[in-house]
Amino acid sequence: MIDKKELEKMFEFHGHKCWASTLGFRAGLIALNKLGAKRIKSRGLYAVVETGYAHGAVCFLDGLQYVTGCTVGKAAILWKPRGKLAFTLIDAKQGKQIRIAYKFNPEIRERIANTQFMKKRAQGIPPHEIPDEEAWEAVNIILSASEEELFVIGEVESTDFIPPEEILGAQQCEICGEWVSLPYIRILGPKKVCIDCAGYEEGFEKGFEGV
Ligand SMILES: [Zn+2]
Ligand SMILES: [Zn+2]
Repeated sequence: MIDKKELEKMFEFHGHKCWASTLGFRAGLIALNKLGAKRIKSRGLYAVVETGYAHGAVCFLDGLQYVTGCTVGKAAILWKPRGKLAFTLIDAKQGKQIRIAYKFNPEIRERIANTQFMKKRAQGIPPHEIPDEEAWEAVNIILSASEEELFVIGEVESTDFIPPEEILGAQQCEICGEWVSLPYIRILGPKKVCIDCAGYEEGFEKGFEGV
């Protein structure tokens, strides 16, 4: 059962009501249940997300972040952009993970495409300007479908994932004077500086594709 109050809170967080964030919300709940895990308040779960930047329905990721607590702001989102509404939720404490992907289901796809919400989206109307009842029509398609109709749900597997270490401490860049977390300090001759002042390549370790 989907807790409608929680769903409304997710829509608040997301900024508008839509079917794709609802889909992420449902998928995240399934993953939590299968792992026997709870939404995180600080650390412990990580989501490797396959959504990218340049495709529709990426609202999926906000639903997932809200319901699992794996947010960008907890460094609990690891990017592996593939243009898919899919993710692997990792429970680092239990050493278990599960992958869930949105299923290519022509019937669901057609029902969503025929909603007023999607017709208006196709005309370029932003989602927050679409009336609530039209957004709910699309959301309800996702809520009323079965898990099997919506998702490819993987097995719970063991994982050897090692969570990124949280390194405390920071210092001032000796060129620009800004506050820099220690792992991002670079050595430039005698100086300790930030990456921008060092002129080094960016050091994103986690597959940030850049746009
Ligand atoms: Zn949305
Ligand atoms: Zn600097």
